[in-house]
Amino acid sequence: MLGASPERPQIWACTDENCGAAARTVDHKIPYHPCPAQGGVMVPLVRKGTKATHRLIERPDYVGADAAGVQPVTDTHGRLIMSVETHTDDGYSTTVFAPAATATNDDIHDAKGSAGGH
Ligand SMILES: [Zn+2]
Repeated sequence: MLGASPERPQIWACTDENCGAAARTVDHKIPYHPCPAQGGVMVPLVRKGTKATHRLIERPDYVGADAAGVQPVTDTHGRLIMSVETHTDDGYSTTVFAPAATATNDDIHDAKGSAGGH
């Protein structure tokens, strides 16, 4: 992984050989695909030849206003997925889907104003 030049092509494949998704890239971005073997959830491809498995992490709590304007990620069973872990022999990486909190400039201004009021 380290030391690869940007020009050197990388070959990627799905962790599930029945899926068949693959990609060739020349940058450092990891390609994702909506994997049928993972309930249609967007999961990363791994470098071809890497033995890896994905673990979908369900979001246990209610999706409230923090998800406004953000389409929650669900699998084909309707389960709300907050992240996916990609496990390899070297450890694992996590892709997070949970929506981030949002604020407007006015919200931030108001918060600063009330915090310094005493
Ligand atoms: Zn796949």
